[in-house]
Amino acid sequence: NNILEVRSINKSYGNFSAVNGISFQIPRGEIFTLLGHNGAGKSTLIKMILGLVSPDAGELVIDGCTYEQNLLKIKRKVGYLPERMNFYDNLTAWETLQFYAQIKGLGKERCEEVLEEVGLKEAMHKRVGTYSKGMQQRLGLAQAIIHRPQLLILDEPTTGLDPSGVWWLKKMIRDWNRSGTTVLFSSHNLDDVEELAHRVAILCRGQMVAAGTIRQLQDQY
Ligand code: ADP
Ligand code: ADP
Repeated sequence: NNILEVRSINKSYGNFSAVNGISFQIPRGEIFTLLGHNGAGKSTLIKMILGLVSPDAGELVIDGCTYEQNLLKIKRKVGYLPERMNFYDNLTAWETLQFYAQIKGLGKERCEEVLEEVGLKEAMHKRVGTYSKGMQQRLGLAQAIIHRPQLLILDEPTTGLDPSGVWWLKKMIRDWNRSGTTVLFSSHNLDDVEELAHRVAILCRGQMVAAGTIRQLQDQY
C-alpha cells in the first residue's frame, strides 16, 4: 500500500545528469528522508514527484495514479513546502492564506484553523514582509497542509531555522505523521533525520547510494 512509487527516474540538464536512475517506494504512514549534500539532486527529484519538472525517463505513481492519468487527483493528495517561499510582502498572513484557500475551494474557517495550528494566529494580521524566516516558514506550512494532504513534501525544511524552530518543526512533522500524513522531506543534515525518519535514502551526485532505516545504514557503514 504505497502512497508513492518512484521508478527509474532520470533527469538531465544538457549533458549533466541531475537525477540518475532513482527508484524507491514510500508506504502510507511513513516519514521518509532524502539525505544528501547541496547539488545531490534532492530538489530536482522532489520537483519531479510534484509534477513541476518532467522526468526524461521513468515513472511516478502517486496513490496508484500517474500524472498523465489524473493530475487533479494527485494535486489534492499532495502538500508542498518549497525550499524558498515567495510571499507578497505587503499582504498579511491572513490575506495570503485566504487567497490560496479560495483557489483550493476552502473556506475562512479552515484558514483560521491552520493558522492556529502553526502558531500564527496572533500575528496573522501583520504583513508577511515583517515576518522572520521562522514565521514565513510557518505560513508556508499552513499553506502546505490547508487541504489536508495525504502526502506532505518538504524541501530542506530545517535550513535557516534556529534551534527552537527546528525543534518545533520536528514536533509538527511527528504530530502530522501520527495523525496519518505520510511525510517526505529532504535534508543535508543527519541530525534532522536521526530521531525522525523511519527510512532514509542517501543521494550523491544524482544517484541513490543507500537506503534503509537509520539502523540498517549504521550497520552497513
Ligand atoms: P539539491 O536539492 O540536492 O541541492 P538540486 O536538485 O537542486 O540538488 O540540483 C542538482 C544539480 O542539478 C545541481 O548541480 C544543480 O545546479 C543542477 N540543476 C538543478 N536545476 C537545474 C536547472 N534548471 N538547470 C540546470 N541545472 C540544474
Ligand atoms: P537548491 O537550493 O535546491 O540547490 P538551486 O539554488 O540550485 O536550488 O536552484 C534554484 C533554482 O534554479 C531551481 O529552480 C533550479 O532548478 C534552478 N537551477 C539550479 N541550478 C541551475 C543551473 N545550473 N542552471 C539553471 N538553473 C538552475
